[in-house]
Amino acid sequence: MLTKIISQAEISRFHKWFIRADKVVIVSHVRPDGDSIGSSLGLCHFMESQDKTVNVIVPDAFPDFLKWMPGSKSILTYAHQKEAADRMIIEADIICCLDFNSISRLNDMADAVKISSAQKIMIDHHPNPEEFCQSIISHPEVSSTSELVFRLICRMGYFSCISQKAAECIYAGMMTDTGGFTYNSNDKDIYFIISTLLTLGIDKDDIYRKVYNASSESRLRLMGHLLTTMKVYDNFRSALMTLGRNEQKTFNCMRGDSEGLVNIPLSIKSVKLSCLLHQDTEKEVIKVSLRSTGKFPCNQLAAEFFNGGGHLNASGGELLGTMDEAIREFEKALIKYESLLKVKE
Ligand code: 5GP
Ligand code: MN
Repeated sequence: MLTKIISQAEISRFHKWFIRADKVVIVSHVRPDGDSIGSSLGLCHFMESQDKTVNVIVPDAFPDFLKWMPGSKSILTYAHQKEAADRMIIEADIICCLDFNSISRLNDMADAVKISSAQKIMIDHHPNPEEFCQSIISHPEVSSTSELVFRLICRMGYFSCISQKAAECIYAGMMTDTGGFTYNSNDKDIYFIISTLLTLGIDKDDIYRKVYNASSESRLRLMGHLLTTMKVYDNFRSALMTLGRNEQKTFNCMRGDSEGLVNIPLSIKSVKLSCLLHQDTEKEVIKVSLRSTGKFPCNQLAAEFFNGGGHLNASGGELLGTMDEAIREFEKALIKYESLLKVKE
C-alpha cells in the first residue's frame, strides 16, 4: 500500500474539475527534461482514456532521447506553434502545470497561461511554490512529478485506466529525476510503484536503454573533452566544466548532448559540488547546471548567484554575460559556501 501524500481535499477538488472538463492543456517548463515530458504524457494518456481533449505544450524543444515516449510526437512547442498553442490555452477548461513552481519557468508562454480563465492546477515537487494556480499539489519530498501524477490518478480511483503507454512515461520520469534510482530514491513507495508499473507491462530495462544508451558519437566525444578540460577545486570539493560556443561547433553539439554530463564529476570521491556552464549559441547568456551530494544546498547557491533554483541536489539558473564572468561568479560562490563545502559527510 502507498502512503497517502496528497491531501484528500486536493484530490476531491481536482476530481470535480476533471469530471466536468472537456478540454485540458498540460504545460511544463522550459528546456523540458525526462520528468516534465514523462509526467505530462503520462497524465495526457490517462486523461485521453477518459475522453478528454488533451494537448501538451512545452515552451521549447526537448532532447531526442525522450522522443521514443508514446505521444511525444503530438507535443506542441510554443516557440514554433504559438498561434495554435495560444488558442488551446485560452479555450482550455483546465490547465495542468507540471514539474515547475514559478510561472517564469514557462518563458514566453507565461502570459498566455496567466490570462487564461481555465482552472489551473500545479502538480510539482520543487520547494517554495508560487501561487499562480487555484489548486496546488506541491510535494518537495516526492522525488518526481511523474510519481505525483501516478499517485493522483490512483487516488482519484482510476488505477485500472492507466495504460501501458502511460505507465512507460511515468516510469521514465521517475527514473530520470532520480538518475536511474541512484539519488533521491530511498523512499520505499518508489519501488512499490515500480512493481505496479511492471504489472502494467513496462519493460524497465528497455526504457533505461532508450534514455541512457542513446548517445550520439558526438556526445561521447564531447564528454571526453569536458572531462579533459574540467577544473577541480580541491579546497572546495568542487568541479567545474565549461562548454563555450566554439566547442559546441567543434563537437557538432545537438540539443540534449550535454544533458546529464554535469553529474559525472560527482563520481570523484572528494567532489560534492559539480557545475556545468553552458553558453547559449545566440544570446549572451550562460546556462548554469549544478549538482551536489549530501546536504549541500545547490538550489540556494543557484538562487543567490544565478537567478535560479531547483532541488537541494540538482539545480540550475542563468547568468547574463560572458563565460569568464560566469566562471568568476561560480568562484565567488565557492568562497561564500566554503564552510559548507568543507563539511565531511
Ligand atoms: P538542469 O541542470 O538539468 O538544467 O536543471 C536541474 C534542475 O534545476 C531542474 O530540474 C530545475 O528544477 C532547476 N532549474 C534549472 N534551471 C533553472 C532556472 O533557470 N531557474 C530555476 N528556478 N530552476 C532551474
Ligand atoms: Mn521533476
